[in-house]
Order: sequence, then structure tokens, then C-alpha cells
Amino acid sequence: MASLELSNVRKAYGATPVLDDVSLTMAAREFVAFLGPSGSGKSTLLRIIAGLETADAGEVRLDGRRIDTLAPGDRGVAMVFQHYALYPHMSVRENMAFGLRNAGVPRQEIAARIDEAARVLEIETQLDKKPGQLSGGQRQRVAIGRAIVKQPRLFLLDEPLSNLDAALRTRTRVELAQLRQRVDAAVIMVTHDQAEAMTLADRIVVMHDRAIQQIGAPMEIYGRPANAFVARFVGSPA
Ligand code: ADP
Ligand code: MG
Repeated sequence: MASLELSNVRKAYGATPVLDDVSLTMAAREFVAFLGPSGSGKSTLLRIIAGLETADAGEVRLDGRRIDTLAPGDRGVAMVFQHYALYPHMSVRENMAFGLRNAGVPRQEIAARIDEAARVLEIETQLDKKPGQLSGGQRQRVAIGRAIVKQPRLFLLDEPLSNLDAALRTRTRVELAQLRQRVDAAVIMVTHDQAEAMTLADRIVVMHDRAIQQIGAPMEIYGRPANAFVARFVGSPA
């Protein structure tokens, strides 16, 4: 069965169109990377899927169920932002527990999920610290951990590694790949790092001018770019 299905999603801010009829079907547990210049609508699309924005037209389905009519917390989607968006006054544990407590998950279950995520992300010793006491890399793990404990059907990662330095980014990329093997979920990751997209993604989506220019496996995008924009953007010889 398909996991995420976008059908003709359209969005404008006032008179300015931002997304024109975007459609996409993802397979179960597929990892799709979004590439495209700044302003091409990538974050807006993720925010629509997560329910932080409303589309003007179109439908969003996850595992066959229509979700664009549901409240953000009921969609089975978890989003990780570039700037972490952690609560500074809460400990790491409280940051990870917050959404679950609001969703009525029992206390014991919350503790178990946090311990498991902390182990996977190797932040067990950071759980009682505040975000301000952590390095950028650790904060990013907490943000990813907070998404994992929700046990979503779909992860939305909006440039999750772009605040990290090159060495840490490479390491975290490897960890994301490992993590991916353990979670039974689909992943969309927006990135401006083409190597990141190449290594992690089953398919790459190239966005430009409010629309998907091409969807394909990394080798297809680079070897057979669909148009001049894609060729120029990914730097392929065609
Ligand atoms: P990307 O993530 O690809 O850089 P965005 O989705 O952030 O692109 O933005 C797409 C376009 O929508 C840009 O022109 C941006 O200025 C505009 N935009 C994004 N959010 C808003 C908003 N809340 N109000 C008005 N315009 C917005
Ligand atoms: Mg963006």
C-alpha cells in the first residue's frame, strides 16, 4: 500500500502562488529527499502535510486514510525542524514527553519510549539537561528523538542537518541511515546537500517554480534529468 499520497495540493499566500498542483505517491517505508532552490515551496509542502498550514486545494492521505482534515496531532506525522524548536525551559526528557503527555499516552509507556529513543540516539546521559546545556549535534538528536517517540507513520525532516558542521553532519547522516532501518515509517527529508540526498534517499524530488520538476531514483535524476533546470541544478552533464 502507498504510505503518503499527495493529490493536486495547491497553496497561495494572498495573491502569490507557492505550490501548483503537487502530486506524489510514496511507497511504504520509502525515504524521499526533496531538493530545490530556496523559495520553491519545500517547507510549505511539509507544513501542509503536518497540518501547520492548510492547503487551498488537494488531498493528503497517509496509509490510505485522508489526513488533511485531521488535527495535526492526529495525523501520525512527526516533523523535525532545522532550528530544533526545543522548549528551552524544559529538560530533554520533558521535551520528549510533552507531546505524548498531551496525547494521553500512559506515563510508563512514555518513559519506555523515551529510554528506547535515547538509547538509539546515544543521549541517555543528557536526559536531565536543558537544551541550552547541549551541543548543536545533541540538540538535533533530541529533536529527532522527540519525533521518534511519537511513533509516527511519516517523518518530515526540514533541513535537519544544515546547522551542523561538516564532520558532525557526515556522522549524523550515517546515524539517520541506521535509524531508518529501525523505524517502520516513511521519511521525507528536505536538504540542500545533494550528497546527503544521494546517500539516504530511495527517490529524490526536485522542486522549482512551485512544482515538482522530477521524481526519480538518485541515478535517474543525475543520469537522465527531466529538463534543463534539473540538469543545471544537480550539475549533471546533460
Ligand atoms: P523553501 O522551503 O523551498 O525555501 P518555502 O516553502 O519556505 O520555500 O517558501 C515558498 C514561498 O512561500 C516563498 O516565496 C516564501 O517567501 C513564501 N512563504 C512561505 N511562508 C509564507 C507565509 N507564512 N506567508 C507568506 N509567504 C510565505
Ligand atoms: Mg525551507
